[in-house]
Amino acid sequence: MRLTRADLDQLPAYVPGRSPADLARELGMAEAVKLASNEVPYGPLPGVVEAVTAAVAQSHRYPDMATTALRAKLAARYGVDPERIATGCGSVALAEHVVRATCLPGDEMLYAWRSFEAYPIIAATAGATSVRVPNTPAHAHDLDAMAAAVTDRTRVVVVCNPNNPTGTSVRRAELDAFVDRVPENVLVVIDEAYREFVTDPDVPDAIDTYADRPNVAVLRTLSKAWGLAGLRVGFLVASPEVAGAVRKVVTPFSTSMTAQAAALAALDQEAEVHRRCALVVAERDRVTEALRKLLPDVPDSQSNFVWLPLGDGAAAFGAACERRGVIVRPFQGDGVRVTIGTPAENDLFLAAAETAVA
Ligand code: PMP
Repeated sequence: MRLTRADLDQLPAYVPGRSPADLARELGMAEAVKLASNEVPYGPLPGVVEAVTAAVAQSHRYPDMATTALRAKLAARYGVDPERIATGCGSVALAEHVVRATCLPGDEMLYAWRSFEAYPIIAATAGATSVRVPNTPAHAHDLDAMAAAVTDRTRVVVVCNPNNPTGTSVRRAELDAFVDRVPENVLVVIDEAYREFVTDPDVPDAIDTYADRPNVAVLRTLSKAWGLAGLRVGFLVASPEVAGAVRKVVTPFSTSMTAQAAALAALDQEAEVHRRCALVVAERDRVTEALRKLLPDVPDSQSNFVWLPLGDGAAAFGAACERRGVIVRPFQGDGVRVTIGTPAENDLFLAAAETAVA
């Protein structure tokens, strides 16, 4: 007797990065390097461990479900009213909540492909129909084709900017035209998980540029530049209506007490975040340049990872890197995503890449 939905059998599972400890054990090495989950390698920000430790003393109590202090701090930092903010257990949870808040079964969620692997899972769990629009040959969103693919059933269109896993971004003129063209009854979700790594001034900050439009919602995370991947905090900036609906469908208490405390402490460390992002960006540019000697069509990245468009060679490249103790993220048939690590980790990866391509 089957108890679960048959359609889930067709759904690819979310693949988390492999454990470096397991790989090191398998290879008999002291340690392996994981460049597969787009984390920043410099440890928690100053003050975060202390804030979390202090919060744990109250952990027999429920957290503030309204995340009042955190929303107030985010509101002040990003220049929006707290009513327009929702927080969640990572921005991936908020993406799911947005879809739950907008789509009924059979409604369409439209997104570029390839993009963040959670989108199809989110669509399916909400009962929404996934509509995927292929990226351009340069691995970027094809916003014209995406706008043309909107139908009467479309409720949500996701623009991942910069795009995971290709690192490409859409620029101001294109995004302006796209947002103008999408009908007012369709929510445009701009997922800016990697915004802090953007250096191209022509890639717009969606909170500053579009969030005042009633049908735009912006997703941000504290997992990447802010170093809180393990504590799970993301936030959404949208209209009061959309943010309020998301707060309604959110799993109760899903921004934990430690997550709230850590986020409040991290937000005091913006100068350090900028310093760390600058290190990542310098390494991103160095790694991109080195990789282009092996693979000329590595696209420009505005994020903290690079994309190797290896097509059917992706899995073999990933396996070759693992044999050298470096975990990367292959998407077979498409390419390989490699997170920027410390300079030493990146050197290990580049050495592995040379043998993998040879
Ligand atoms: N959006 C994108 C584009 C991502 O790449 C990720 C993380 N891989 C997320 C959202 C979710 O991040 P988190 O849930 O850790 O906030």
